[in-house]
Amino acid sequence: MNREKWRIYNGKPTVPDHLVVPFITGDGIGVEITPAMQKTVDAAVKKAYRGKRSIVWKEVSAGEKSFKATGEWLPDATVKAFDDYLIGIKGPLTTPVGGGIRSINVALRQTLDLYACVRPIRWFKGISSPVKHPEKVDMTVFRENTEDIYAGIEWDKGTPEADKFLTFLCNEMHVEKIRFPQTSAFGVKPVSEEGTKRLVESAILYALENKLPSVTLVHKGNIMKFTEGGFKRWGYELAREAFGDRVFTMTEFEQTVASEGREKANERLENAQQSGKVIIRDVLADAFLQNTLLKPEAYSVIATLNLNGDYISDQLAAMVGGIGISPGANINYQSGHAIFEATHGTAPDIAGENKANPSSLVLSAVMLLEHIGWNEAATMITKAMENCFLNGNATSDLSHFMPNGQHLSTSQFQQALENEIEQVLI
Ligand code: NAD
Repeated sequence: MNREKWRIYNGKPTVPDHLVVPFITGDGIGVEITPAMQKTVDAAVKKAYRGKRSIVWKEVSAGEKSFKATGEWLPDATVKAFDDYLIGIKGPLTTPVGGGIRSINVALRQTLDLYACVRPIRWFKGISSPVKHPEKVDMTVFRENTEDIYAGIEWDKGTPEADKFLTFLCNEMHVEKIRFPQTSAFGVKPVSEEGTKRLVESAILYALENKLPSVTLVHKGNIMKFTEGGFKRWGYELAREAFGDRVFTMTEFEQTVASEGREKANERLENAQQSGKVIIRDVLADAFLQNTLLKPEAYSVIATLNLNGDYISDQLAAMVGGIGISPGANINYQSGHAIFEATHGTAPDIAGENKANPSSLVLSAVMLLEHIGWNEAATMITKAMENCFLNGNATSDLSHFMPNGQHLSTSQFQQALENEIEQVLI
């Protein structure tokens, strides 16, 4: 059996037929949902490729389980495995309390420079939603993962560092706008051209590869002119420089309005849409959040900064009733490193009760299969899940809100998925 690692050659991945995938089981419900995810993936891969392909699961440790056994929350060997094998998948991990490592997820993202947090958000028929038309929500959020006010550069009120920073701001930068200087804590918001461009490039490539109509840059550049305004400006620049006539930007639209009038600009936009160009536009974050409720069908791929992306991902997931079942991945599209993960936590309140919903991790595995180009297996799992929900087959967190809900345990739901995979024709 060929158990090679896979590598990127000339920007294209070569994936061995028997692919080693490192995985972290995770704490709490991780013990229940990770095996459920693996069984489901194995069943789909086996059916799709009749044994010619398989995932060779390689367990690596992290989290509470690892800390109890070795005294380390995130052993070096685990980071090395994700680095060597390029991709991996992880169940939820307990966030350490107190000193030492701040968050295992953040440490992994920083070490492997996983700059894009990718969250596809769609509605499954049968799932209860707080909005009237959840079927209109079909977006993929690309959230910048390494910069912004989330970079962790901040100092608490009254510390020597905060005092030093304040002195620098007032004496050397002549800042006079700090309302209560002596009782202020401070944070720094780095947003770079390089960081923005690699994120926006990934979002546009994703739209082109998946034949999606638009990429929307979401920002607050009207207020934060250099950081969020820079994100917008650099995003448009990148679109023009790197993608040329495969995209049509709203800056081109505005230029046409100014030079040849609105009618001509609308005609150009329509032609671009019809010829399959990706439309690049931007919108202010507050208007975007309103529009997600008023006209969600207007948006497809979203590229945004770290903090905006955090709020946006959760709001969109809530709109499709999928806050607990949304998948996610942290990806570096340049090196090929990617870690797919459940987006919820360890759910200590239900751990060990065989009632956790494995869907978030299963759908993250679907993203993994799509990432390596095993689309047939990915589609089988997605269709199986669609059929399960349509028939009311779901774990109790979802089935309680379904008129035909069946209240399945984790293992029963996994079995229902496997049964559906057997039936699915693709
Ligand atoms: P949580 O997501 O674990 O739980 C919130 C609520 O959602 C609970 O009522 C839980 O029972 C329910 N829930 C979550 N996942 C579910 C599932 N798959 N099926 C059914 N119900 C589910 O959030 P929390 O309680 O705030 O955090 C618990 C621990 O998880 C903390 O240590 C936190 O730091 C950690 N955490 C880890 C991650 C991660 O690893 N990506 C993410 C969030 C929280």
